Amino acid sequence: MQGTGEIWIDDGDMHVVAPTLIVHYVEQHAYRPPTRFIRAAAQAADHRRRNRPQSWAPPVLIDAE
Ligand SMILES: [Zn+2]
Repeated sequence: MQGTGEIWIDDGDMHVVAPTLIVHYVEQHAYRPPTRFIRAAAQAADHRRRNRPQSWAPPVLIDAE
Protein backbone atom coordinates (compact mmCIF):
# COMPACT_ATOMS: atom_id res chain seq x y z
CA MET A 1 0.00 0.00 0.00
CA GLN A 2 1.27 3.45 -0.85
CA GLY A 3 1.88 5.97 1.88
CA THR A 4 1.64 9.11 -0.20
CA GLY A 5 -2.09 9.07 -0.92
CA GLU A 6 -4.99 10.43 1.06
CA ILE A 7 -8.45 9.11 1.79
CA TRP A 8 -11.12 11.81 1.52
CA ILE A 9 -14.54 11.07 2.97
CA ASP A 10 -17.48 13.45 2.72
CA ASP A 11 -19.42 13.07 5.95
CA GLY A 12 -22.14 15.44 4.76
CA ASP A 13 -20.79 18.28 6.87
CA MET A 14 -17.13 18.34 5.95
CA HIS A 15 -14.44 16.23 4.39
CA VAL A 16 -12.55 13.91 6.68
CA VAL A 17 -9.04 13.26 5.37
CA ALA A 18 -6.47 10.67 6.36
CA PRO A 19 -3.35 9.20 4.78
CA THR A 20 -4.03 5.88 3.05
CA LEU A 21 -1.52 4.37 5.47
CA ILE A 22 -4.17 4.77 8.17
CA VAL A 23 -5.32 1.26 7.26
CA HIS A 24 -1.86 -0.06 8.16
CA TYR A 25 -1.79 1.94 11.40
CA VAL A 26 -5.18 0.55 12.42
CA GLU A 27 -4.46 -3.05 11.46
CA GLN A 28 -0.83 -3.34 12.57
CA HIS A 29 -0.42 -0.72 15.29
CA ALA A 30 -3.85 -0.67 16.93
CA TYR A 31 -4.25 3.00 16.05
CA ARG A 32 -7.76 4.26 16.73
CA PRO A 33 -8.80 7.17 14.48
CA PRO A 34 -11.00 9.95 15.83
CA THR A 35 -14.61 8.88 16.30
CA ARG A 36 -15.72 11.31 13.61
CA PHE A 37 -13.47 9.61 11.06
CA ILE A 38 -14.68 6.13 12.02
CA ARG A 39 -18.30 7.25 11.75
CA ALA A 40 -17.73 8.90 8.36
CA ALA A 41 -15.90 5.84 7.01
CA ALA A 42 -18.67 3.51 8.19
CA GLN A 43 -21.34 5.77 6.64
CA ALA A 44 -19.43 5.91 3.34
CA ALA A 45 -19.09 2.13 3.22
CA ASP A 46 -22.79 1.73 3.99
CA HIS A 47 -23.68 4.32 1.33
CA ARG A 48 -21.60 2.45 -1.25
CA ARG A 49 -23.31 -0.83 -0.37
CA ARG A 50 -26.78 0.67 -0.77
CA ASN A 51 -25.98 2.52 -4.00
CA ARG A 52 -24.38 -0.14 -6.11
CA PRO A 53 -24.89 0.45 -9.82
CA GLN A 54 -27.98 -1.33 -11.14
CA SER A 55 -25.77 -3.35 -13.43
CA TRP A 56 -23.96 -4.86 -10.49
CA ALA A 57 -24.97 -8.44 -9.85
CA PRO A 58 -23.39 -11.25 -7.96
CA PRO A 59 -21.62 -13.85 -10.07
CA VAL A 60 -23.95 -16.56 -11.30
CA LEU A 61 -22.97 -20.18 -11.41
CA ILE A 62 -23.97 -21.86 -14.62
CA ASP A 63 -24.28 -25.60 -14.84
CA ALA A 64 -21.87 -27.13 -17.31
CA GLU A 65 -23.60 -29.63 -19.56
ZN1 LIG B 1 4.06 -0.07 10.57
